[in-house]
Amino acid sequence: QAKAQRGNALCFFDPEMQTAINERAQLEADLRQALHGDQLVLHYQPQCRVNGEVVGAECLVRWQHPQRGLVPPGQFIPVAEDSELILDIGQWVLQTACRQLATWQQQPGCAGLKLSVNVSARQFRQTGFVHQVVEVLQATGAPAHLLTLELTESMVLDNVQDAIEKMHQLRIKGVQFALDDFGTGYSSLAYLTSLPLHMLKIDQSFVRHLGERPADDAIVQTIIGMGRNLNLEITAEGVETQEQKDTLAGYGCDLYQGYLLGRPAPLELLQERLQEPLASAA
Ligand code: C2E
Ligand code: MG
Ligand code: MG
Ligand code: MG
Repeated sequence: QAKAQRGNALCFFDPEMQTAINERAQLEADLRQALHGDQLVLHYQPQCRVNGEVVGAECLVRWQHPQRGLVPPGQFIPVAEDSELILDIGQWVLQTACRQLATWQQQPGCAGLKLSVNVSARQFRQTGFVHQVVEVLQATGAPAHLLTLELTESMVLDNVQDAIEKMHQLRIKGVQFALDDFGTGYSSLAYLTSLPLHMLKIDQSFVRHLGERPADDAIVQTIIGMGRNLNLEITAEGVETQEQKDTLAGYGCDLYQGYLLGRPAPLELLQERLQEPLASAA
């Protein structure tokens, strides 16, 4: 009772909330162990020109949990982002991707393939971000021009000046930048021209109902037209059907990514896929 009088928090003690807090703490502890116990894995989702040429893949992290199986990033990245853990995860993903890029340079047929890496807000905000990327490139020997970093609108808008500076410093090394989930954020178009971007990725929510919702067709056409005028390449995300792909190609979209071309999969599967002619390429 003495304790209860000291602060409101204890008066409103809620066992359900305590359970949630415990679970979160447990998840964080497990994740820290996962990172040091080789339980994180990268899956690769192919990215392709609309003419069928495979240009590379996006790296998507998964957690190979000993009990829970393969855990998707949506279930642990947000938790990691609330702590410093995301920095270690981000570093691991970057290193793994760059090592792969370096390895590919020794393999005929794979040399020249690009990899895209998702960067988290906290990682990008770090003072040492540019240095971190440059160091990993140097340590692994990965060609910088084959590395694309994916940022989101909110990350850039959080501090535009700082973002521009960091992007420029990496851009002169050859690293390229894509704006991920484009169209879902604040969409202040004014800043777009001041960013050293290479690519816009149209969010899958606009692709899903192409041909069914005229408004979505209009949005996609507008993004593609704008990208063209700004000299940016356009990738459509979440392309699942041949109809969607054909529509996008007709609108002038440059690249696409999605289940039609392939689900994110382990490296071996991606490499197998690269050997065989693409059924959906025609
Ligand atoms: P994202 O970067 O926008 O990645 C695209 C997501 O869409 C992936 O989900 C991918 O599996 C899914 N997807 C791809 N094609 C299709 C399709 O045709 N249909 C549908 N319905 N979905 C498709 P995933 O792998 O669960 O990743 C979710 C998000 O987690 C990613 O969104 C990204 O924001 C984040 N993420 C993944 N890996 C990393 C990472 O290494 N670091 C950070 N910071 N975030 C990551
Ligand atoms: Mg992405
Ligand atoms: Mg996306
Ligand atoms: Mg996303």
